[in-house]
Amino acid sequence: LPEQEAFDIEYWLLEEAKLLRMPKPKSLAGRVALVTGGAGGIGAATAERLLREGACVMLADIDAGALDKARDGLAARHGKDVVRSVQMNVTDENQVIGAYADLAVEFGGVDILVSNAGIASSAPVEDTSLALWNKNMDILSTGYFLVSREAFRTLRAQDIGGSVIFVASKNGLAASPNASAYCTAKAAEIHLARCLALEGAEAGIRVNVVNPDAVLRGSKIWSGEWLDQRASTYKTDKEGLEEMYRQRSMLKRSVLPEDIAEGAYFFASDLSAKSTGNILNVDAGNVQAFTR
Ligand code: NAD
Repeated sequence: LPEQEAFDIEYWLLEEAKLLRMPKPKSLAGRVALVTGGAGGIGAATAERLLREGACVMLADIDAGALDKARDGLAARHGKDVVRSVQMNVTDENQVIGAYADLAVEFGGVDILVSNAGIASSAPVEDTSLALWNKNMDILSTGYFLVSREAFRTLRAQDIGGSVIFVASKNGLAASPNASAYCTAKAAEIHLARCLALEGAEAGIRVNVVNPDAVLRGSKIWSGEWLDQRASTYKTDKEGLEEMYRQRSMLKRSVLPEDIAEGAYFFASDLSAKSTGNILNVDAGNVQAFTR
């Protein structure tokens, strides 16, 4: 190489090396996320993931005590200025509207919604009361509608696009024994996401779905009635259920809240800038496997 060219190359390589050593800018810096059901489980893990990428996060949950604990824990790790919380029932229209008003005051708006607040219920169809059916529809389908409708109103007004993520369930795609109300409500969430993806596309509002398989560890759902009913349906205990789900999956691995959080982060960030109306099954390969 001519001397000058060799010098230029060496100089360029040194500059590149310096750049590589520099801390990378955080991928969600300057963005604001609302995470419903953020007081624990998948929601809290997702909030943690988004905060690590530099987002400001508002946690929303019906459970005030758990909400305060989760907010304080996140604030201790990421700083008080970037975490807020609001007690909110996703089925209460006024409370949902109020949470977006709080977002405007606290953070000046919103860029990301993770709609995740939910329950699970199990009963054979002949034992499913109208009240149980309606509870599933209210919290899951209607709750997801209300929080995403308000997200759309805010995002359209801001006119800078945004990302809406639904934490639905693999049970919204596939039937599960003795859980028709839950499965049907989750299927409605998934179809709502498809419809909103179409409606939001022109404004740069992306809508995607993360479907967890069973996440037994860290989830409150798996400590109450749902656990008892699943255990009775499959005639085993919590450890036996976790092992059953692991064995059914292609990868033979359990799914954790942090795994779902990675999926939500992917859809929240520009990594998925060209994805909308999509479903990511975070299920260790369970949905596509016939291993039972
Ligand atoms: P979790 O119980 O640990 O967390 C759910 C949170 O939602 C709780 O903090 C709860 O207080 C809150 N919540 C419930 N009803 C609410 C309401 N009306 N308004 C506001 N907040 C409310 O459960 P998780 O496992 O973290 O579940 C999160 C989401 O993932 C749910 O939508 C659930 O259906 C879905 N999911 C979970 C699993 C699993 O196996 N854990 C599997 C598939 C889908």
